[in-house]
Amino acid sequence: MSPGRPFPAAAVDLLACPVCAAPLEPLPGDAGLRCTAGHAFDRARQGHVTLLPPGRSPATGDSAQMVADRVAFLGSGAFAGISRALGDAVLVGEEPPATLLDLGGGTGHHLAAVLDRLPDATGIVLDASRYAARRAAAVSPRVLAVVADAWARLPVRDAAVDRVLGVFAPRNGPETARVLRPGGRLVVVTPAGDHLAELVGPLDLLRVDPDKEARLSGALEPHLAPLATTAHRELLELSHAAVGTLVGMGPHARHLVPAELAAAVGGLPEPVRVTVSVQISSWAPTV
Ligand SMILES: [Zn+2]
Repeated sequence: MSPGRPFPAAAVDLLACPVCAAPLEPLPGDAGLRCTAGHAFDRARQGHVTLLPPGRSPATGDSAQMVADRVAFLGSGAFAGISRALGDAVLVGEEPPATLLDLGGGTGHHLAAVLDRLPDATGIVLDASRYAARRAAAVSPRVLAVVADAWARLPVRDAAVDRVLGVFAPRNGPETARVLRPGGRLVVVTPAGDHLAELVGPLDLLRVDPDKEARLSGALEPHLAPLATTAHRELLELSHAAVGTLVGMGPHARHLVPAELAAAVGGLPEPVRVTVSVQISSWAPTV
């Protein structure tokens, strides 16, 4: 079966072999990628490429159901405000970025929204979930979807990327600093203390760690230094079905029994007013 659309060439130019770190180039017909030493990586028929050393699999990745919930919730536009705030931070600077890497980027939803404002830019979505990567491979012809481990050495060249994005995602300070070009930046979206506050108690969701900011700094410094932080806050009105997909797409879902969650959602008013509250911080490599 055809692997679909061509690889975006500018995105391939950012990638490095997960075995030997040599540059990667497309196989004939864009059927996969190969390094100069001959390590080859097939392309899935859905269009994504898995870049892991042989025998390795990513630690954890979102399940098919979590990804389906993510597609449903984000597709409704409910987090469009977060995408906009992310894009505003990405676009700060004299020159618009040409290359973006979304670490733990899931279905590519937020990256695609940012690329809509950057008509000449190209992006990579890197995620542990092959279900998410299948979606990301189709989100834009300027996106290349890669299954890889965001905690390990990234299959990305040194000093190659203009912006690294991290939206509710794992943070890898040393590797982010390595792949950013001089003058490049990391843009991180993290939940604030009152994010989804109206749902946390009634649905027994995981609470935002009050030390989250300290942990963010601990994960990024001394490899990156903070530049600026902005806040994005808005009230959404969500149906019960939307609340179900919102909870199902996130880390909250893993400890909840579906029947108990459905009963708790049924006890909420409808529509239910829900606070979206996030911080968007920008970081620069220190070397
Ligand atoms: Zn290689």
